[in-house]
Amino acid sequence: MAPFGRITAAFLIALAAFVFVGAALAVAGRQLPVPAIGRDYVTRSELPPAAGFDLPDVAGETDDDRPLVVIDPGHGGHDPGASGQGLVEKTLVLELARELRDELVRQGGLRVALTRDDDTYLLLEERSEIARRLDADLFISIHADSAGEAAEVAGASIYTLSNDASSEAARRFAERENAADRINGQLLAGQGENVSAILVELSQRRTQGRSDELARLIEREGKGVLPFHPQPRRSAALRVLRAPDVPSILYESGFITNESEAERLSSPEGRRRFAEVLARAIRIYFARSGELGTGTGSAAAPANGTATGE
Ligand SMILES: [Zn+2]
Repeated sequence: MAPFGRITAAFLIALAAFVFVGAALAVAGRQLPVPAIGRDYVTRSELPPAAGFDLPDVAGETDDDRPLVVIDPGHGGHDPGASGQGLVEKTLVLELARELRDELVRQGGLRVALTRDDDTYLLLEERSEIARRLDADLFISIHADSAGEAAEVAGASIYTLSNDASSEAARRFAERENAADRINGQLLAGQGENVSAILVELSQRRTQGRSDELARLIEREGKGVLPFHPQPRRSAALRVLRAPDVPSILYESGFITNESEAERLSSPEGRRRFAEVLARAIRIYFARSGELGTGTGSAAAPANGTATGE
């Protein structure tokens, strides 16, 4: 039995070493400081989501059939995001996100969750994964921008995933999640590779269409109320928007390197205006798809009566 014992011991030591290195890498990956460069959410490469993170609390209606909006305040923890005029993006966007959540809960008819409600760092993949695991109907990531020395640059923008990035994300999702995942409630396991890829591609395309619709509604409802960038609708290869089955947008609330914009975004009045516009756009979005139900009455109609025009 001696040789067998030695082999078993060697195997266990190798296994322990493997587990230890894996755990060390996982810890290091979460704690490596990431430099706060502009547009870091575009280019930063990330580790896959760590297993076992907690799902956030859901506020608002208790009925699971009600649409669920997941709001994602960008950055957090060791990653402050942009800074300017004495403001830090991670703090500013958390306050904007809370204001929007409170406004949506106040108006009723929806469920709302924040990916983070404190100064926690989350990987980009964890943020969209939270939305997927909660079976969210919308995902809205909130950021603020910096223009460095160009203090005159101002205005909000609404980002959706670019078409190229969307197809690429669908392909990768199909490869990676093939075995165990669901897309729009349909199990991909046993579908065969080609069928899975087609299901994911179809789902991603529909998701893109709905993401674009929300972006358009935010622009429309915000016109004259929120100062937008001259070209407010953008698309980019944003990692945080890649859930193939949750319509997702990223809202750049403005440039905190611009004095008046910084003042606006950090004031209670500025936060209120932001939350009212986004809440109205979100309600119209769900009202159009029939997901708000009939119990919410006139709250589903926009305050300025522009629901029928584009
Ligand atoms: Zn940001």
